[in-house]
Amino acid sequence: METTKFTLSEEEMPTSWYNVQADLPQPLPPLLHPGTHEPTILPPPLFASELIKQEFSTERFIEIPEELQQILRMWRPTPLYRAHRLEKALDTPARIFYKYEGVSPAGSHKLNTSVVQAYYARQDGIKRLATETGAGQWGSALAIGCSFIGLECKVYMVRVSYNQKPYRRILMETFGATCVPSPSTDTQAGRDILSENPDSPGSLGIAISEAVEDAMHRDDTYYSLGSVLNHVLMHQTVVGLEVKTQMEKAGVYPDIIAGCIGGGSNFAGVILPFIPDKLKGKRIQIIAVEPEACPTLTKGPDMYDFGDVARLTPLIKMFTLGHTFVPPPVHAGGLRYHGLAPIICHLNRLGLIEARAEHQVAVFQSAVQFARTEGIVPAPEPAHAVKVVIDEALKCKESGEAKTILLALSGHGYFDLASYEAYLTGKLIDYEYPREKVEEALSKVPKV
Ligand SMILES: *Cc1c(COP(=O)(O)O)cnc(C)c1O
Repeated sequence: METTKFTLSEEEMPTSWYNVQADLPQPLPPLLHPGTHEPTILPPPLFASELIKQEFSTERFIEIPEELQQILRMWRPTPLYRAHRLEKALDTPARIFYKYEGVSPAGSHKLNTSVVQAYYARQDGIKRLATETGAGQWGSALAIGCSFIGLECKVYMVRVSYNQKPYRRILMETFGATCVPSPSTDTQAGRDILSENPDSPGSLGIAISEAVEDAMHRDDTYYSLGSVLNHVLMHQTVVGLEVKTQMEKAGVYPDIIAGCIGGGSNFAGVILPFIPDKLKGKRIQIIAVEPEACPTLTKGPDMYDFGDVARLTPLIKMFTLGHTFVPPPVHAGGLRYHGLAPIICHLNRLGLIEARAEHQVAVFQSAVQFARTEGIVPAPEPAHAVKVVIDEALKCKESGEAKTILLALSGHGYFDLASYEAYLTGKLIDYEYPREKVEEALSKVPKV
């Protein structure tokens, strides 16, 4: 009988994070101060000192503190599966593997960094973290991370999601976090917006402004970000380091890796540990998958832009659709970011990865096929990568090549069943690339 599930022993678990900055053939472009356009760092009163150090470190491996290793082992190693039943259904000679992060208590990879950020905040004597969340994936991961480390957690949740998607809010509250609909009356930014528009549905940009203001005005509070930043991507490399060992033990090596990109953290977690091999000449095709409605890497220009609508971040060199761009309401809420992690942008610039954009109806069709064969309902975000994996497996069927394909399955979709219902009842629609809205947003990007 062939093996379906690959795991690791305690001794085989990674004890350090991998920092790709040590191996980049050219260093990352610097962050720029929005006023002076001079190189700058992350604003220190907002982030833990250790995280700021990690953000700019060029050390290849950074040791994971013992207490964190212990906590990570509550759900790690996560399983690597061989998708025998999907392969059979597709009648493909390809070998499909998937690394599944849905087994974490948060149901996604996001807990791999939230718990780390809480840990380093506590090390600085901080008592509380503030953050924003859209549909609630990051907010619930930070709530769980803070509860493990013993910090308070305040989450500003975009009001429409707060009202329409109660389950992740309830999860946050179950883990002891305080979750308020944004705009809220708890901050000046929120009060200003409510006085102009008491019925404001909120937006991620408004919620970020509120969380940052909260952290700036309190000595006991830091701000926390769930993706994009270098240190966040590095925390996720435990995923790829595990995969490398799991595949090595199984005697296989990927020809293709596919993962979805919102801010880029789950994709980075899986692929970054493979970058040194690729730089040494190993042939491996690395595909980043994004929605056709928010095609940052396939259609966005490579330029300096703000990370957020409120223009609070330094200027970041990245592929961007413009910081004022509001993407159509695709169901993969986690993929609706206008920009992308600088590290992933840099790998694209250097030709080490490639990008593909997909429409959501075809994405859900693939996700349902995956669920019916493998028994896991993928979150709408990684469902984008499922689509590409199935396409590649079908290409193998035509060519007769038995490629080894690795899918980054970043989380489950059990809180996203309303999206599946929309698909199953034929109500899901595709959005064309909103060219005019992107052009308008790009005209507001500062000239550097
Ligand atoms: C948030 C989220 C994403 C998108 O964020 P990245 O930083 O690009 O990984 C993808 N998948 C799941 C399950 C998520 O919760």
